[in-house]
Amino acid sequence: MDRILLVEDHPAMRELVVRELARSGIAADAVGRVSEAEASLAQVRYGALVLDRGLPDGDALPWLQRLRVRQVLVPCLLLTARDALHDRVDGLEAGADDYLAKPFERDELVARVRALLRRQRSWVSSAPQWSGLTVDPLGARLSCGRSSVNLPPSELQLMLALVRAEGRVVRRSALEAAAWGLTEAVTPNALDVALHRLRRKLEVLGCGVRLVNIKGVGYSLETLSEPSGQEGDRAA
Ligand code: CA
Repeated sequence: MDRILLVEDHPAMRELVVRELARSGIAADAVGRVSEAEASLAQVRYGALVLDRGLPDGDALPWLQRLRVRQVLVPCLLLTARDALHDRVDGLEAGADDYLAKPFERDELVARVRALLRRQRSWVSSAPQWSGLTVDPLGARLSCGRSSVNLPPSELQLMLALVRAEGRVVRRSALEAAAWGLTEAVTPNALDVALHRLRRKLEVLGCGVRLVNIKGVGYSLETLSEPSGQEGDRAA
């Protein structure tokens, strides 16, 4: 049975959606606040998110936007009374995959949730892996076998970029953009500090993967068993 997370603060609406989805074989966990939704997402791998926009602890859109920045790509249906064009556009630009205005027909709700659940496969596999390493964007962890380490936001984005590159070189500018965006001001050595920490974490994991500095170009991950002329940048 597919399981989705419903974030809706209005009790009657919450009950209605849970009931209608259950009749169609879709189980829903329901919460009423952004904070509860964040906690639930960290514990359960949901097939989709059905999100009411106006919640007691704030507008759900900035939260959805932050999830997308963190590469939490759970398919999202925005459920809201706001039906103006700019609201729909805002929702989609914040990272919603679909939009349903209240009041809605039961059949349309179910059909739209089903469509999102069909995207589930790509979402479930959105924890990138390479050479025994797995980056979990939701749990903000880097793991290898049974060992894992926490990654603060900038290190998480760097590791996602490096693991997705699968051993290819990622330019310094691309890494900085991944970790801090294009607008956020960063100190000149912020990248080196973050990469230094990642290097230590890779050693702690003992996964046989190291981070190498290709001088003047960028950085890449490399498996220790591979012959290579490149040395790790110990000075970083
Ligand atoms: Ca509401």
